[in-house]
Amino acid sequence: MTHIKKPEWLKIQIGTNARYTETKRIVDTHKLHTICSSGRCPNLGECWGKGTATFMIGGAICTRSCKFCNTLTGKPLPLDPEEPKHVAESIQLMKLNHAVITSVDRDDLKDLGAAHWAATLRTIRELCPGTTIEALIPDFQGHAELLQQVIDTRPDILSHNMETVRRISPLVRSVANYDTSLKVIRQISENGLKAKSGIMVGLGETPAEVEETMDDLLENGCRILTIGQYLQPSAKHYPVAEYIHPDQFKKYQEIGEAKGFEIVESGPLVRSSYHAEKHLRKS
Ligand code: SF4
Ligand code: SF4
Repeated sequence: MTHIKKPEWLKIQIGTNARYTETKRIVDTHKLHTICSSGRCPNLGECWGKGTATFMIGGAICTRSCKFCNTLTGKPLPLDPEEPKHVAESIQLMKLNHAVITSVDRDDLKDLGAAHWAATLRTIRELCPGTTIEALIPDFQGHAELLQQVIDTRPDILSHNMETVRRISPLVRSVANYDTSLKVIRQISENGLKAKSGIMVGLGETPAEVEETMDDLLENGCRILTIGQYLQPSAKHYPVAEYIHPDQFKKYQEIGEAKGFEIVESGPLVRSSYHAEKHLRKS
């Protein structure tokens, strides 16, 4: 596979402001763990400057190995029972307006990590009543009773990523399945929570397939959609098939909003947690 050169529009400028500097100081001083810094997210300057950050729970090792993902994979360590408190305290320290929580998949645990998820979200609510919460959750292998434990903590936004279109899903996702993910979205929306999902483009999908995924999500009650460019984390990951032009991203946004999503955040550098706080205010 020939290497495709990264286009200009993917080069980012790191701007900083006082809020960013303060957030960075707190993160460094307290050795806090955010995906923003560990994942070297291109939007870090902007998000931290606005008081938004994403935390990963359940440890640093995932039991799955999706071909697009840079998270460590293997046998995870036991859960840290103090983690819910630590994450909540971090959010408190960082004075976040909006916190996004995500996790590795814990297929090794009997409850697939559901109780830990619920404990984390409840503790954040208790310690940070002024912070809005978005939870980006795994599929819990489609077990409705496990997902329900998380739903019952009533986060402000509950999201689960489709990651890609139906045809490419089995090529790049490990264990997760397109229809199970749709089922997760349906259960979230049927419980009256704001359901959100995200996909990456540039994996070889066609615009018609992206539209099909939009339709599937809408049919299952999804209200917010993010679409961003897939970037290959390393040479051993799934290759980028195409760098999608910003005009096409704009088109996806217009199509998605015309189809009925309340919000479509679509752009080369969009990540699931990008502009997350805005999603809450707008909807
Ligand atoms: Fe952090 Fe998400 Fe913003 Fe990236 S897009 S800096 S992961 S909050
Ligand atoms: Fe990465 Fe999530 Fe796949 Fe684990 S399940 S490898 S964290 S995308």
